[in-house]
Amino acid sequence: MIFEGRNQIPYGYGRYGWTRSNGKTWHGGQDIVGLDDATVRAAEGGKVLRSRIVTDKRDRTWEWGNYVTVRTTSGEQHIYAHLAERLVQVGETVAAGQSLGVMGNTGNAAGGYRHVHFERRASDGKTALDPSAKSGCANRVGTYGAAKIAPLSGEACVLSVGPASAGDVAAMRALAASLQVACRDAGGMLSVGPVSPGDQVAVLTKAAALGLPVTASAAAKRIEIATPSLRVRTGPGTDEFKQIGSVKAGERFDVLDCCGGWYFIETPALDGWVSADFVKVL
Ligand SMILES: [Zn+2]
Repeated sequence: MIFEGRNQIPYGYGRYGWTRSNGKTWHGGQDIVGLDDATVRAAEGGKVLRSRIVTDKRDRTWEWGNYVTVRTTSGEQHIYAHLAERLVQVGETVAAGQSLGVMGNTGNAAGGYRHVHFERRASDGKTALDPSAKSGCANRVGTYGAAKIAPLSGEACVLSVGPASAGDVAAMRALAASLQVACRDAGGMLSVGPVSPGDQVAVLTKAAALGLPVTASAAAKRIEIATPSLRVRTGPGTDEFKQIGSVKAGERFDVLDCCGGWYFIETPALDGWVSADFVKVL
């Protein structure tokens, strides 16, 4: 694909009416928007034949703005147009996936928004070919490819997911169970984890599919109760939050949240806050 992550096609190839002149203009390429990435990457490897911008409007290629043409190893010509910036020079050899430029709207970009106009031509440089065979995107309006998802933290952390509907809560709980990580539901707001960086990607991918927002909350800690027993309170403080139970020396818990010198822990019997002063971090 030309962009990492999701590639959106607002206008397909080979139709009249997609762009200007009341539909009288043939569209010789696919317009592709990188939703997660602005770097235009070579659909196929080859050699850079052109890397330029034409400003003389008697030459119709001015409409392409900054553009790069690659003569591919299979002999085709691939044109990447409307770039904000070109990152390769004529004569350079490029591999598939290599950066060619940055998505832009130079020249006569349809709609005026940033995209790449990707054209595919036969070895004669003239005969138009369907670019969808190389772009990885069908020749239809739509979004192709999966969102590019990276972990929110380089270390294990707790993820806050939601607000989520009951159905979405059930789906996230099932995923957490399959990853063998804790999942706590407080009225549709889920605390999932601690989750490793690898498992964060799984949680984020699922949440993206369900359209749920995710934030990384307190870095995960596992603590051991160091005093004979420790009061568990409704909030992070002694004065305003009442005691709702206690935990015994030697008991171990995952910290789901922290605030000041207080940890929010989940025990088999209750959820609540304990003072960080009387615990040992494991
Ligand atoms: Zn176009």
